[in-house]
Amino acid sequence: MSYFKVNDNCNGCLACIENCPASALDFFDQDGRRTLKHNMTKCARCGQCWRVCPQDAIEFQHLLVGEWDEVISLDLIHCRVCDEVLYSSAFQQKIDSKLNSTSEALCPKHRQNAAAAKLLPSIKKA
Ligand code: SF4
Ligand code: SF4
Repeated sequence: MSYFKVNDNCNGCLACIENCPASALDFFDQDGRRTLKHNMTKCARCGQCWRVCPQDAIEFQHLLVGEWDEVISLDLIHCRVCDEVLYSSAFQQKIDSKLNSTSEALCPKHRQNAAAAKLLPSIKKA
Protein backbone atom coordinates (compact mmCIF):
# COMPACT_ATOMS: atom_id res chain seq x y z
CA MET A 1 0.00 0.00 0.00
CA SER A 2 1.33 3.41 -0.95
CA TYR A 3 0.24 6.78 0.39
CA PHE A 4 1.91 8.52 -2.53
CA LYS A 5 -0.99 9.92 -4.49
CA VAL A 6 -0.90 11.75 -7.81
CA ASN A 7 -3.93 13.52 -9.19
CA ASP A 8 -5.13 13.98 -12.76
CA ASN A 9 -2.88 17.06 -13.27
CA CYS A 10 0.12 14.77 -13.77
CA ASN A 11 1.51 14.97 -17.32
CA GLY A 12 4.26 12.39 -16.84
CA CYS A 13 7.16 14.86 -17.06
CA LEU A 14 9.24 12.70 -14.66
CA ALA A 15 10.59 15.67 -12.69
CA CYS A 16 9.57 13.97 -9.44
CA ILE A 17 11.47 10.80 -10.33
CA GLU A 18 14.58 12.65 -11.42
CA ASN A 19 14.64 14.65 -8.17
CA CYS A 20 13.78 11.98 -5.64
CA PRO A 21 16.88 11.60 -3.43
CA ALA A 22 15.80 8.18 -2.19
CA SER A 23 15.05 6.49 -5.53
CA ALA A 24 11.56 5.90 -4.22
CA LEU A 25 9.97 6.83 -7.52
CA ASP A 26 10.25 5.04 -10.84
CA PHE A 27 8.32 4.62 -14.04
CA PHE A 28 7.84 2.35 -17.02
CA ASP A 29 6.49 2.89 -20.51
CA GLN A 30 4.49 -0.01 -21.89
CA ASP A 31 1.75 -0.51 -24.47
CA GLY A 32 1.64 3.19 -25.23
CA ARG A 33 1.24 4.20 -21.59
CA ARG A 34 3.55 5.75 -18.98
CA THR A 35 3.13 4.42 -15.44
CA LEU A 36 4.67 5.99 -12.34
CA LYS A 37 5.64 3.80 -9.39
CA HIS A 38 6.32 4.65 -5.76
CA ASN A 39 7.99 2.53 -3.10
CA MET A 40 6.93 3.31 0.48
CA THR A 41 9.84 1.41 2.00
CA LYS A 42 12.33 3.69 0.25
CA CYS A 43 10.42 6.97 0.63
CA ALA A 44 11.89 9.44 3.14
CA ARG A 45 8.79 11.66 3.00
CA CYS A 46 11.11 14.59 2.27
CA GLY A 47 8.64 16.38 0.01
CA GLN A 48 11.14 17.01 -2.80
CA CYS A 49 8.85 15.43 -5.39
CA TRP A 50 6.02 17.68 -4.26
CA ARG A 51 8.26 20.78 -4.42
CA VAL A 52 9.52 20.13 -7.96
CA CYS A 53 6.28 18.97 -9.53
CA PRO A 54 5.32 21.70 -12.04
CA GLN A 55 1.74 20.49 -12.17
CA ASP A 56 0.82 20.46 -8.46
CA ALA A 57 -0.06 16.85 -9.11
CA ILE A 58 1.41 15.27 -5.98
CA GLU A 59 -0.97 15.18 -3.03
CA PHE A 60 1.74 15.06 -0.42
CA GLN A 61 -0.65 15.32 2.53
CA HIS A 62 -1.41 11.62 2.20
CA LEU A 63 2.24 10.79 2.79
CA LEU A 64 2.31 12.92 5.95
CA VAL A 65 -0.93 11.72 7.45
CA GLY A 66 -0.91 8.13 6.31
CA GLU A 67 -3.36 5.67 7.75
CA TRP A 68 -3.28 2.50 9.78
CA ASP A 69 -3.40 -0.74 7.86
CA GLU A 70 -4.95 -3.69 9.65
CA VAL A 71 -2.45 -6.52 9.35
CA ILE A 72 -4.08 -9.32 11.36
CA SER A 73 -7.20 -9.95 13.44
CA LEU A 74 -7.15 -12.56 16.23
CA ASP A 75 -9.77 -14.05 18.54
CA LEU A 76 -9.61 -12.74 22.11
CA ILE A 77 -9.90 -14.51 25.44
CA HIS A 78 -11.93 -12.70 28.13
CA CYS A 79 -12.01 -13.16 31.90
CA ARG A 80 -14.82 -15.64 32.48
CA VAL A 81 -16.06 -13.59 35.47
CA CYS A 82 -15.87 -9.91 34.47
CA ASP A 83 -15.32 -10.20 30.71
CA GLU A 84 -12.12 -8.10 30.76
CA VAL A 85 -9.94 -8.74 27.71
CA LEU A 86 -6.96 -10.89 28.68
CA TYR A 87 -5.00 -11.90 25.57
CA SER A 88 -5.43 -13.47 22.17
CA SER A 89 -6.50 -17.06 21.81
CA ALA A 90 -3.30 -17.79 19.85
CA PHE A 91 -1.20 -16.36 22.70
CA GLN A 92 -3.02 -18.55 25.22
CA GLN A 93 -2.42 -21.64 23.09
CA LYS A 94 1.28 -20.81 22.92
CA ILE A 95 1.56 -20.39 26.70
CA ASP A 96 -0.49 -23.54 27.38
CA SER A 97 1.73 -25.60 25.10
CA LYS A 98 4.90 -24.19 26.73
CA LEU A 99 3.58 -24.94 30.24
CA ASN A 100 1.89 -28.17 29.15
CA SER A 101 -1.29 -27.08 30.94
CA THR A 102 -4.63 -25.37 30.35
CA SER A 103 -4.77 -21.86 31.77
CA GLU A 104 -7.97 -20.53 33.32
CA ALA A 105 -9.43 -17.44 31.68
CA LEU A 106 -9.27 -15.12 34.68
CA CYS A 107 -8.09 -11.54 35.10
CA PRO A 108 -5.56 -10.86 37.91
CA LYS A 109 -8.31 -9.78 40.34
CA HIS A 110 -10.52 -12.80 39.79
CA ARG A 111 -7.51 -15.12 39.71
CA GLN A 112 -6.68 -13.85 43.21
CA ASN A 113 -10.28 -14.34 44.34
CA ALA A 114 -10.31 -17.87 42.97
CA ALA A 115 -7.01 -18.69 44.72
CA ALA A 116 -8.35 -17.28 48.01
CA ALA A 117 -11.58 -19.28 47.68
CA LYS A 118 -9.54 -22.47 47.24
CA LEU A 119 -7.50 -21.68 50.36
CA LEU A 120 -10.45 -20.78 52.59
CA PRO A 121 -11.73 -24.33 53.37
CA SER A 122 -8.27 -25.48 54.49
CA ILE A 123 -7.86 -22.35 56.66
CA LYS A 124 -11.28 -22.96 58.30
CA LYS A 125 -10.37 -26.59 59.07
CA ALA A 126 -7.03 -25.58 60.69
S1 SF4 B 1 8.82 12.31 -0.53
FE1 SF4 B 1 11.05 12.42 -1.01
S2 SF4 B 1 11.73 10.30 -0.87
FE2 SF4 B 1 9.49 10.21 -1.01
S3 SF4 B 1 9.05 10.00 -3.19
FE3 SF4 B 1 9.02 12.19 -2.76
S4 SF4 B 1 11.12 12.90 -3.19
FE4 SF4 B 1 11.19 10.67 -3.01
S1 SF4 C 1 6.65 15.83 -11.45
FE1 SF4 C 1 4.43 15.95 -11.23
S2 SF4 C 1 3.66 16.07 -13.34
FE2 SF4 C 1 5.78 15.36 -13.46
S3 SF4 C 1 5.59 13.13 -13.46
FE3 SF4 C 1 5.87 13.73 -11.34
S4 SF4 C 1 3.79 13.94 -10.54
FE4 SF4 C 1 3.63 13.94 -12.74
